[in-house]
Amino acid sequence: MIIGGLQKLTLLDFPGTVACTVFTVGCNLRCPFCHNPTLVFNPPESERISEDELFAFLNKRKGILDGVAITGGEPLLHSDIGEFIAKIKALGYKVKLDTNGTFPDRLEKILAEGNVDYVAMDLKNTFDRYAETVGIRDFDVELIKRSISLIRNSGVDHEFRTTVVSPLHDAGDFGLIAKQIEGADKYFLQNFVDSGDLLNGEGLTELPREELEKALDNAKKIIPQSKIRGES
Ligand code: SF4
Repeated sequence: MIIGGLQKLTLLDFPGTVACTVFTVGCNLRCPFCHNPTLVFNPPESERISEDELFAFLNKRKGILDGVAITGGEPLLHSDIGEFIAKIKALGYKVKLDTNGTFPDRLEKILAEGNVDYVAMDLKNTFDRYAETVGIRDFDVELIKRSISLIRNSGVDHEFRTTVVSPLHDAGDFGLIAKQIEGADKYFLQNFVDSGDLLNGEGLTELPREELEKALDNAKKIIPQSKIRGES
């Protein structure tokens, strides 16, 4: 596993759990709004940490932290992700896995192994605008459909979330986006924030508040428990 960063404490990344966050390096997508391309694609050697260092840290924090949130990049890009999760779980930690949903075979295996306590999947857009939104020509949206189905039927606590970006989305899209995950436990809209270090941020903006609320209303018609991230 190539680890690009470690946040030693988070009260936000893993719902209901005092956790740390592990950032894996690399991603197979090229979302123009990716907010930390340096960390995702080419983190400086000085910021990388070895698995040995990570597990030394986790051994020391047993009883202080309850969980580990694994995010990226795309964690499932790494063929050894299942073993990595199993090692963390064996130390007694709960595990949250973030994914962009493009590796359904690996996801299926990991869900079946029973070492993941919470899965969060990005749902980038309506299926017909997926390729444009993830920056990959000829993107195979069947991968996303399979991952949605696996997660929804897994019995594992889960959420889907969409980073809302103009002009890739408008409020009217969110009925259809939510329809794609109908029956999901939780659905969050998170408005785009310009970190100043975007993959290709030209022309991208957040949705005005009024539009974001309209987007939420449309999502709620399909998934009543939909929320704007960070709001009750
Ligand atoms: S925002 Fe897109 S490109 Fe960036 S890490 Fe997530 S899935 Fe990959």
